[in-house]
Amino acid sequence: MTRRTIAILGATGSVGTSTLDLIERAPDRFEVVTLTAARNVAALADAARRTNARLAVIDDEALLPELSERLAGSGCRAATGREALDEAAAGEAEWVMAAIVGCAGLEPVMAAVEAGRTVALANKEALVTAGALMTDAARRSGATILPVDSEHNAIFQCLVGARLEDVSRLILTASGGPFRTRSRADMAAMTPAQAVAHPNWSMGAKISVDSATLMNKGLELIEAHHLFGLPSERIDILVHPQSVIHSMVEYVDGSTLAQLGSPDMRIPIAHTLAWPQRMATPAERLDLARIGSLDFELPDLERFPALRLAREALEAGGAKAIVLNAANEVAVAAFLASRIGFLEIAELVEQALAQSDASPPQSVADVIDIDAATRDSVGDMMQALTD
Ligand code: NDP
Repeated sequence: MTRRTIAILGATGSVGTSTLDLIERAPDRFEVVTLTAARNVAALADAARRTNARLAVIDDEALLPELSERLAGSGCRAATGREALDEAAAGEAEWVMAAIVGCAGLEPVMAAVEAGRTVALANKEALVTAGALMTDAARRSGATILPVDSEHNAIFQCLVGARLEDVSRLILTASGGPFRTRSRADMAAMTPAQAVAHPNWSMGAKISVDSATLMNKGLELIEAHHLFGLPSERIDILVHPQSVIHSMVEYVDGSTLAQLGSPDMRIPIAHTLAWPQRMATPAERLDLARIGSLDFELPDLERFPALRLAREALEAGGAKAIVLNAANEVAVAAFLASRIGFLEIAELVEQALAQSDASPPQSVADVIDIDAATRDSVGDMMQALTD
């Protein structure tokens, strides 16, 4: 059997390390070609040595000498810069894990899509911001985009063999995050440590905060629209605190298919790694008798306005999703640095959406310009808040 060649963009993060964990358990099936990171040079070099990668790319140029030193004698080339990242994404590897966090991952994801690779997409912000530009590019190049997000991966699995016209709606489940039962007054005082303490999933800091505001579900709503081609009104959100059902597809005949599993990202990642086959994972098996019952409730848009804002941005179209995402990235970073309060995240996003009159993007360069302009204006808004 020929081994599948692999590139992991964001190899040192939560999704990246889970991907490496699976690959290292099945060395007969996978061959790591390229790994990338932003600044974690020690973890990057260590992973590159363990997997015999041929190229390791570090985003922070100042760390290139240290990366080269750590890789000396390993046969793995150390590199930095835009061209190296494009080479990582669109080079030798046939399967690319897109696991950089934020819009920073957009250009390499597009490079992989344009090169016709199989792209396992965790980096939802790239699809949220580029939307149709990315799905059109995939159609042109023949690239396959496989959803890694557990909800979208669940829907993808529930759609096997289906015709889209037979689907009546998608139901994205949401854990509700760590503040599901908290009042707005409680949330106002929440610290970054409390916001990243997700009840079910272990994830990177940014997505953990997004789960606490429910912006993550909002980004996923937009992601689902682009991946599966359904309009906003046919994509519902259902809070399901146990995170056992990862999402559902309702068909026109009244059948609803669900995908279930323990909350371990290695399950959806393995699905994309082995696709269209399957591979074993060490993930805990579901013990439904022990779990006993599953709960569901509707999301509360008053307490969690970020979800409302995301739906409004999707329905407004144009550049709104780019503005939503950029404002959220800046606000979440400021919250994590204790510069603003938890509730101010959604407030800043709402203000940015109200102020922006950006035209719809015609290219990835336009997306990047709108993203940068939004970051600047949210920076000014925050300055005004703290003055
Ligand atoms: P992490 O913060 O844990 O990891 C992010 C990775 O991207 C790291 O390897 C980091 O390198 C790298 N990185 C960060 N910024 C840059 C940059 N500017 N340029 C290049 N590389 C960069 O994030 P997660 O793994 O949690 O999430 C990754 C993506 O997957 C996000 O889009 C998230 O929404 C999505 N996702 C994550 C899930 C999860 O369970 N974690 C579930 C579903 C989706 P370094 O370590 O050096 O900083």
